[in-house]
Amino acid sequence: MRRGTNLPAVGEFNQAVILDRVRRSRDGLSRVELAELTGLSAQTVTNVSRRLIETGLVREAGKRINGPGKPRTILQLEPESRYAIGVHLDPAVITYVVLDLEGTVVAQSRARTPSAARPPRLVESMAQAISSLIAASGVRTEQILGLGIAAPGPIDDALGVVVDPPLLEGWHRVPLRDSLLEALGLPVLLEKDVTAAVAAELWMHDEAGSDDVGFFYYGTGVGFGIAVDHAPVRGSSGNAGDAGHIIVSDEGEVCRCGQRGCLGDLTLPRTVVQDAIARGVIAEPPRALTLPVIDELFGKVTAAAAAGEPEAVALIDELCRRFARGIVTIVNLLDLQRVVFGGPFWDRLAGVALERVARHVADSSALIRLAPISITSSAVGADVAAIGAACLVLDNTFSPRPSTLLIGR
Ligand SMILES: [Zn+2]
Repeated sequence: MRRGTNLPAVGEFNQAVILDRVRRSRDGLSRVELAELTGLSAQTVTNVSRRLIETGLVREAGKRINGPGKPRTILQLEPESRYAIGVHLDPAVITYVVLDLEGTVVAQSRARTPSAARPPRLVESMAQAISSLIAASGVRTEQILGLGIAAPGPIDDALGVVVDPPLLEGWHRVPLRDSLLEALGLPVLLEKDVTAAVAAELWMHDEAGSDDVGFFYYGTGVGFGIAVDHAPVRGSSGNAGDAGHIIVSDEGEVCRCGQRGCLGDLTLPRTVVQDAIARGVIAEPPRALTLPVIDELFGKVTAAAAAGEPEAVALIDELCRRFARGIVTIVNLLDLQRVVFGGPFWDRLAGVALERVARHVADSSALIRLAPISITSSAVGADVAAIGAACLVLDNTFSPRPSTLLIGR
């Protein structure tokens, strides 16, 4: 069932179709090419193009000679005509980005998430940080299409509420979407962080043959975003992609679900650090495993593995087996072509883990898919969820496909 969106629509369906084509073309397109590509009549293309030029979304960028006949005027996207804001709320760090229409980051900022900050105070500081970033970027408010927030699940997407995020102390049913809407007066969209991450990957890497993609988000918590047929899968309530309780080992502590060996628990950076302490990879155990301490020690473990220390290498190899078991189950279920790893903790792990994960996946006797599975690191970088949240705003404004996003207003 299609549901409404209240983001400021740039135009009706034909306009979205044409704009999407122009956006995806590297060198711009002529009106004749647009008519051929979209199946719209020459008159419709001319009318819509005029509106797009009038609203500043598209510009005429010279003429191209294409065989006999008149040179054709080329239409290109005007990237600096509109912008989207993206925010990623992570238990350790909050990331803010401003994206132009091409998806280029034009401004960004980060702040450590205050521990034990009461939600109203934290929301207030988020609103201030967003206002400051907009001011610093020089973007005018009327150029901003909206604000996308990527938050840890579960979310209540009908109400725009962050329900019970693990690791965010004191957060229970926080109406983040409406609070920021009220504070900033911008349309706001709330999405689960892994869905935002996979959206960024689709937006930035629009390559053929990778329409069915999984995104293994490796942050303070871990999660799995899914795209099928080049569209992020949100599920019926916006909470698709929880792979946390896939069993990947007969070891480990008992999970809160009552089982032992769950993917979500056993691959967390915290668990990696705890294992490293137990194996003596980290010589001096810390007094408390706070988020900053985990961050620091995680770097030591990956550095030790990169230096070839046997215990550290063995630990990383076991971690990669766990990743691989989870991935094989998900790939089997959805017949994915590509799995992308990313998130704030992934960069340090990639050098010692990426090839190992790919090897364990390829060697798995449980793997059904015959064609090779591409396993790569995200090229979007550590800010992928914030960028993805902004991409969802752009996508929701421009994409011609029926949107299922529910957006506050
Ligand atoms: Zn579990």
